[in-house]
Amino acid sequence: MLRSVLIMQRRTEKLMEFAVNRGFFWPSFEIYRSKVEVGGFYDYGPLGVELKRNIVEKWRKVFIYPYQDIIYEVDTPIIMPEIVFKASGHLEHFTDYVVECTRCGRKYRADHLVEEELRRRGVKVRTEGLTETDLERLIREHNVKCPACGGELSQVYKFNLLFKTTIGPYSNNVGYIRPETAQGMFVSFPRVFELAGRKLPLGIAQIGKVGRNEISPRQGLIRLREFSQMEIELLFDPADPACPYLDEVRDVRIRVAPEDEVAKAVREGREPRAYEYTPQELVEKKIVINEWMAFFMALATVYMNELGVPLDKQFFLAKLPEERAHYASCAFDQMVWSERFGWIEVSGLAYRTDYDLSRHARYSGYDLSATRRLERPVEVEEVRVYPNPQRIKELYGERAPEVMRIVGALSKEDIQRLAAGESIRIDDVEIRPDMVYIRRSIRKITQEKFIPHVVEPSFGVDRIVYVTLEYAFHLVDSDRILLRLPPDIAPIKAAVLPIVKKSPLTDIGLSIYRDLARRGIRVIYDADGSIGARYSKCDEIGIPVAITVDEKTPENNTVTMRDRDTRLQIRVPVNEVYPILREVVEERRSLREIGLERGFEIIERR
Ligand code: AMP
Repeated sequence: MLRSVLIMQRRTEKLMEFAVNRGFFWPSFEIYRSKVEVGGFYDYGPLGVELKRNIVEKWRKVFIYPYQDIIYEVDTPIIMPEIVFKASGHLEHFTDYVVECTRCGRKYRADHLVEEELRRRGVKVRTEGLTETDLERLIREHNVKCPACGGELSQVYKFNLLFKTTIGPYSNNVGYIRPETAQGMFVSFPRVFELAGRKLPLGIAQIGKVGRNEISPRQGLIRLREFSQMEIELLFDPADPACPYLDEVRDVRIRVAPEDEVAKAVREGREPRAYEYTPQELVEKKIVINEWMAFFMALATVYMNELGVPLDKQFFLAKLPEERAHYASCAFDQMVWSERFGWIEVSGLAYRTDYDLSRHARYSGYDLSATRRLERPVEVEEVRVYPNPQRIKELYGERAPEVMRIVGALSKEDIQRLAAGESIRIDDVEIRPDMVYIRRSIRKITQEKFIPHVVEPSFGVDRIVYVTLEYAFHLVDSDRILLRLPPDIAPIKAAVLPIVKKSPLTDIGLSIYRDLARRGIRVIYDADGSIGARYSKCDEIGIPVAITVDEKTPENNTVTMRDRDTRLQIRVPVNEVYPILREVVEERRSLREIGLERGFEIIERR
């Protein structure tokens, strides 16, 4: 047991060292490390950029391309004006708790500190969703002190994680870096909805950078202050929540720890258990609230599996009501096992209801509703409100046009309340019944308006990059590194290696290399050192195929193609290299399979 723990520790330590040394990623601003401490930012190097790009492209292949009839990708700004985050609720709710050492001044994320400190003492607590009073009580009860200097801890207080800036030269024009890509999609919804012919279901997807001013960033790529997300806002009619693609994923097995199991586990002070379900079972047993959630769980399971994470190393963990984000009425975290960090959340799946669109409609005064046809026309009493310009001008002066716009875009609920004689408040504007004229009429209607509901899968790219590397990273024959990345995910697809550095092998090698490079394949050429050492270098950075130009090449125009994982080689005509490489990379076919199928000479590993 101890031995396997040590091996694992050595493996993951080596992995971090390897990732930095081979230029996958490293902490940013290294040259200023002695001047300033800024954690939570990472650079991606050449191999990391390629790896990340392939992981993102794989996501598009799983989540967008097959459903491109309804899912559209957009790219919206990273900096957004304050009103967007007032509407989204982030200004008010996007907070974590901080506690400060009264002696050395260090600041900690209170829930993490309490959880880790108590775990060290053998006490298991779940701090997610606890209030500042709960956290403070735990700190006092267990006499938790500053882990750095042993000093007393301050009171717990809230800290907003939004990065604040100003837009242009006006200090009052406040903006924020988006903490999720989601809001850009909600704000651009009317345009995309028009482009999609005002049809639902509609998916809006976005991949991009976000910023969260995390209190204590740590664990490398796991908790960053700037990271990338891949998100979809799937908008649907709540009266018709069916997912037309559910049947396509019926064979996917999904592991889930449902909400009642999580609640029970919390009461009993143990880890929740995950069970296996089909997407249909998740819906029938009401473990998820609608078909879209089951559908995205299936795709997310397939996606992580395609990146190398087996089914038993991933599951969905239901979030309890007090743990859910302010916008979610049902939510799960997709958890993946990491040898180094334990269970980590790689994606979140949330049913955001009509929360975001309703709020943006209110704050912008823009109509963000869709319409549905009624089965039978119905007669309804219609209450309309019209602004009373004179009264609004008296009360709001120069802001009158803005207030009139708000009145023009009031929701049904707000109109009902005004009609019942109540005042309503929208942001800092109070609308009183005497500011509007109320008209009632009976009307036959054939369609009605509604605000679409949203299911959102949200993936963190950087955590997935780390997890993918961890699952691919193997130490073989004592210390040799073998990075078994799936061929379509590997940063570099092929290496061209003349067996010895002499003409004409080098000329032929260079021409194969140039040909592949011009066709857009990521490929390297290496003629230095022993062939064994060069194969090892290729294995280390996960190159799936090594193409060797040997003595036979000038004679019969053939080369060998070597499989990274089995070390098997097939001898193929030079003009077959490109098509075979494409099959290996795009279809994940093995060289053995291709060799057997086409009758190429197969050279087993020596
Ligand atoms: P959330 O909106 O908090 O559910 O985050 C969505 C996804 O973004 C998570 O599942 C993570 O994969 C990723 N994520 C969240 N916070 C961070 C962070 N500080 N650093 C890196 N990735 C993060």
